[in-house]
Amino acid sequence: RAKSGGRARIDVFDGNLRRQAMTTMRTEADLRAALELGQLCLYYQPIVSLRHGGIAGFEALMRWNHPERGLVPPNDFIPLAEESGLIVPMGRWALQEATRQLVAWQLLFPRPTPLFMSVNVSSRQFRDDDLVSVVRDLLNETGIPPSSLKLELTESLLMENPAKCRALMQSIRDMDVRLSIDDFGTGYSSLAYLHSFPVDTLKIDRTFVQAVSTGEGNAAIVHVISTLATILNMDAVAEGVETEQEAEYLRDIMCQYAQGYHFARPAPAETVERLLVAETERALAS
Ligand code: C2E
Ligand code: MG
Ligand code: MG
Ligand code: MG
Repeated sequence: RAKSGGRARIDVFDGNLRRQAMTTMRTEADLRAALELGQLCLYYQPIVSLRHGGIAGFEALMRWNHPERGLVPPNDFIPLAEESGLIVPMGRWALQEATRQLVAWQLLFPRPTPLFMSVNVSSRQFRDDDLVSVVRDLLNETGIPPSSLKLELTESLLMENPAKCRALMQSIRDMDVRLSIDDFGTGYSSLAYLHSFPVDTLKIDRTFVQAVSTGEGNAAIVHVISTLATILNMDAVAEGVETEQEAEYLRDIMCQYAQGYHFARPAPAETVERLLVAETERALAS
C-alpha cells in the first residue's frame, strides 16, 4: 500500500511538472509570437516637475495585449522574458518605439527643455553587446537630443560586475544619454560606490514615498535620498505618488520630479497626448 501511495505521489508530481513546463513553453512561444505579431504595446506615464507642476517627461511601460487574456501587466511576463532571453529583442523594440514616440511629442510640443523619455532596461539587455549600437543608431535615426533619452537600470545591476557595468554606463553617457537608477533604496548598492558610476537620476522607490502618508516605515528616507541626489549632483524622481500630502512633502523637501497616480496613470499614447494638448492650451491661456 505504501508503495502504491508513493507511486501515486510521483505521478501527481510528474504531472504537475509536465503541466508547468508546458505552460512555460506555451507562454514563451506566445511571448515570441507577441513580439512578432505586434501584440506588445507601450503605456506612458507622465513625470512631472514639482517646481511648476507641468509634464517634464515620461516613463515607457510595457504591456502585452493578449488576444485572450487582455492587457497583461509587465510583472506577469517580464520575468519570463528575462529567463528566456527574449527581453533583449523585446527591450530593443521598446527602446525604438518609445524613442519614435518621443520624436513626435518633441515636434508637437516644443519646450525650452525638451520632453524626455525614460525606458526600462533589464540587466540582461544591458549586458547585451548590442545595446550601445542600438542606442547610437536610434539617436542617428531620430535626431532627438541625446540628453532627452534616459535608461532606467536596477540597483542590483551595479553590483553584479561593477567594473564592466561602469564601463558600459560610461559609453552610454559618452553619447550624452542619461542613466537612472530605478527603485532606488530597495537594492543592495553601496552608497560608497554610487558616486563612482555615471548616474544622472535616482528614482526613489514608492515604498518610501508612500510612507509619507501611511506613517509606516520612515518617510525621512525620501528626504535622505533626495538630498543625496542633490549632493551627488543628480536628479531625484519620487515614484508612486498617490496623494496630495505626499506631493506637498516632496515639494517641501525640494525633490525635483514626481511620478504617480496622483498626477497621471500610465496610459496609451493618445491619452497622454490629450494631456499634453490640454497643458499647452492652459499655458497659452494664462
Ligand atoms: P518600474 O520601472 O518601477 O515602473 C513603475 C511601476 O509603478 C509601473 O508598474 C507603474 O504603473 C507603477 N506606478 C506608477 N505610479 C504608481 C502609483 O502611484 N501607485 C502604484 N501603486 N503604482 C504606480 P508597471 O507598469 O506594472 O511595471 C512594473 C515593472 O515592470 C516596472 O517597474 C519595470 O520594472 C518593469 N517594466 C515595465 N516595462 C518594462 C520594459 O519595457 N522593460 C523592462 N525591462 N522592464 C519593464
Ligand atoms: Mg522604471
Ligand atoms: Mg521604478
Ligand atoms: Mg518599481
